[in-house]
Amino acid sequence: MLKCDLHNHSVYSDGLFTPAEVIDMAIAKGLDAVAISDHDTVRGVKEAVEYGKSKNIKVIPAIEISTFANNEIHILGYNIDYENPEFLQVVENVKSMRRSRNERILNKLEEMKIKLDRSALDNDHSNIGRMHIAREMVAEGYTKDINEAFDIYLGTNGVCHIDAVRLKPYEAVKLIKRYGGVPVLAHPQRYYLENVLESLIEGLLRYGLEGIEVYYPKHTKEQRDHYLQLAEKYDLIATGGSDFHTHKPNCEVGIANAVLDEKACKKLGLEYK
Ligand code: AMP
Ligand code: MN
Ligand code: MN
Ligand code: MN
Repeated sequence: MLKCDLHNHSVYSDGLFTPAEVIDMAIAKGLDAVAISDHDTVRGVKEAVEYGKSKNIKVIPAIEISTFANNEIHILGYNIDYENPEFLQVVENVKSMRRSRNERILNKLEEMKIKLDRSALDNDHSNIGRMHIAREMVAEGYTKDINEAFDIYLGTNGVCHIDAVRLKPYEAVKLIKRYGGVPVLAHPQRYYLENVLESLIEGLLRYGLEGIEVYYPKHTKEQRDHYLQLAEKYDLIATGGSDFHTHKPNCEVGIANAVLDEKACKKLGLEYK
């Protein structure tokens, strides 16, 4: 079994640490492999891969694509051809979509007399999203914490929610496949799909879904075992990660205790041990 953490965010999306800092945390935990899987961007991947080489830890190129079909569904992509100009163009389009959505959210917040410092929400290297807006709301004293910002304003049922233009889950699966990657359904527990989860998996299998994120901090032991069974049933690889953004109770690199079996290692190009 190979110890890994294949789901982490960095400053290139809504994490608070650089790829190198996250990788150092993975090394400190004694992990064999790590991935920086930023939301809708691969901007941190090259430096992550290079840093991994210099530190002798396997870094798997990754992305976490936000999609929507009734529900927000996240698709992880591993070993994607992250320097392919066509792929980068598709990803850039998502970024400009995010910019216009952020603008609309900020305008709606202003209608509610919440006037945020826009300069804090526009830097070129981060893929700015709702998490950044939520942090700014807390920093400027409009909400007591990030959860409240999402519950009242930014979440799907929040008063300032703006639907994002998103790919559909199957489109993200196809996109990842087209550029040589391994598509994996992220954190299945977070969709509350229960018995329709299998329909989602069956649908995505037709487009090339290859894995399911089995090991995840919020998954109970029962859920983890259930997803492991689903992986077996549908011949998917079982992956896992902590979804680390920053230090909070119960959130640190490696906390998912994810392990990869021989089949997953083979699919991800890792040497099994
Ligand atoms: P965006 O990519 O702009 O749609 O924002 C999505 C990100 O916001 C997620 O990846 C989480 O980091 C965060 N997020 C979404 N919903 C919530 C929530 N209810 N509470 C806290 N954070 C959330
Ligand atoms: Mn996030
Ligand atoms: Mn996610
Ligand atoms: Mn994530």
